[in-house]
Amino acid sequence: MNEERSVPSKRQRGEKLLAEGKERFLITMESQLRQLDDLYVLLEYEVRSEHAGQWYRILHTMKGSAPVFGLPAIGKVAESLLHEWEWTQSELAPSLSAMQWSIQAEASLKNSRTALHQLKLERDLVLRELQLKAQEAFGASRSQALDHCRILVIDDDSILRAYLVKRLELEGYLVDEAEDIDLAQRMLRESHYDLILLDLMMYPKSGYELFEVLQEDPTLKWIPLIVLSARDDLHDKVNCLMLGASDYLTKPFRYEELAARVYSLLNRTKNFEQMAFRDALTGVYNRRYFDHHIELELQRVARYPAPLTIAFIDIDRFKSINDTYGHAIGDIVLQGLAYLVQQRLRSTDVLARYGGEEFVVLLPNTTGKQAVKLLTGILQQARTQPVAQHEGQSYSITFSAGVAEWTTGWSVAQWVRTADEAMYEAKAKGRNRVLLAGQKEAEPEATEEPTPVRKRVLIVDDDDILRSIVASRLETLPIEIAEACDGEDAYRLLQRQPVDLCVLDGMMPRMDGLSLLKRVRQEPALQGSSMRVLMLSGRRREDDVTRALESGADDYLPKPFSLVELELRVKRLLGLDAGSGV
Ligand code: GH3
Ligand code: MG
Ligand code: MG
Repeated sequence: MNEERSVPSKRQRGEKLLAEGKERFLITMESQLRQLDDLYVLLEYEVRSEHAGQWYRILHTMKGSAPVFGLPAIGKVAESLLHEWEWTQSELAPSLSAMQWSIQAEASLKNSRTALHQLKLERDLVLRELQLKAQEAFGASRSQALDHCRILVIDDDSILRAYLVKRLELEGYLVDEAEDIDLAQRMLRESHYDLILLDLMMYPKSGYELFEVLQEDPTLKWIPLIVLSARDDLHDKVNCLMLGASDYLTKPFRYEELAARVYSLLNRTKNFEQMAFRDALTGVYNRRYFDHHIELELQRVARYPAPLTIAFIDIDRFKSINDTYGHAIGDIVLQGLAYLVQQRLRSTDVLARYGGEEFVVLLPNTTGKQAVKLLTGILQQARTQPVAQHEGQSYSITFSAGVAEWTTGWSVAQWVRTADEAMYEAKAKGRNRVLLAGQKEAEPEATEEPTPVRKRVLIVDDDDILRSIVASRLETLPIEIAEACDGEDAYRLLQRQPVDLCVLDGMMPRMDGLSLLKRVRQEPALQGSSMRVLMLSGRRREDDVTRALESGADDYLPKPFSLVELELRVKRLLGLDAGSGV
């Protein structure tokens, strides 16, 4: 590609002079652009002939010198801007009434806006090109981050298309091609693209029709698009830019120019897209994207009925990973799980980070049952191999997942809630499982051991470490353990399923232990009356004990307590250990 290294020295000298001139021009242009920006504001406020005159002079200079330094594109835009304000310099201008003057100016300002933007775009491009050249000179390679960018070339001219595909592939991009708008539309729906090159004049549908499609879809709307047009027409250009094109190139063009524009756009938008739709930590989509995408999928299903399922995935006891190994390891684990899940998905599935350690997957053409199978497989993999490794140490996790298949008539909120609740239930049932909303246990492992009606114990404490310690201590008992991190959380759980014993922390944010206790005891519907309560409290004051017992606690254990004692009391309250009174 770059084989013209050994050029004659005379030509080299010429090029060097040109490059220096270009640099000086760009420096000047920088300040000119600033002046134009200022003038624009002034003119918008009030059109004074002196400001119009300044505006005119700057552009006149720019128009004259840009082509000299090998920047004809800048020259052209400057010329169009100049043209827009020509009337202010005419002999008739002074005789115009204030009214006429301001009406004219308004139109000129409006047209100048796009052109001014275009001027800056051209400047960015040249700067980028220079930067690239400098990098090349130092033997540095193009930013690796752009290597896997996927570009869609849409052009009905098969020769040009093939040429562009080849050249762009040589740059390291992944390139797909489409010969008409319909095909392009399908491809855009099926794959993710980072940039589109669009021929405007196509048959039977013109490039303009694709704009509409793109603009309607907020996820496609942001894909940078370069229009390739055979017409060097300002109206076309303005139109395209207004419609959302990022750039416009007139055929015939030099490939190098296109390459520089592609590069510059990708560089700029990569960061933006990353911010807008991706989760910075894991690289999967963010909640914003998901919320939008779910609507799109629903529209699709309304048109072409097919099963559609979502699943919430929440890492089990993730907090203890953070607490034990530190937040940085927690982050790596999150990345690891995202990667693990993503590996198992199809390209049309969408994985998003929904919140802290909670992910959500949208699975088109998938029934609830199929989704359960998929997630169970992923969970099985997580159980058997670490999701993350760092400095020789491996980290394993399990997760709880709730699956819900779309049901006609639901609202999105209802659907999401249903899946979330199923996930919640999976947690309550002991974690490390996948539950299908509206069904009993979906996880084969869990059904493997049909328990002879185990007693249920709910541990309510906002202290995650303490909760985990208590839970793991009690795990050896023949009971089912559920956990809640505060009173409200516990109340919700209890509404769904009563428990035999509640180990209840007295001091919690939101709803504290005593309030929960009172509430539960007052609501016979919760079967709170048959539930035993073991109150835990950091306070040892006599009246606390009394109040707890008065409110309906069956036992009281002050913190810190020994786990042995706790276990004994739990057994006693559940009647698991008849009369062990050590
Ligand atoms: P459960 O099994 O009930 O889900 O327990 P859990 O500990 O996973 O759930 P909980 O909601 O109590 O704790 C979630 C923790 O996730 C709390 C928060 O500090 C942590 N977390 C949230 N976002 C991040 C993150 O970006 N990085 C790391 N390292 N931790 C995070
Ligand atoms: Mg969790
Ligand atoms: Mg959580």
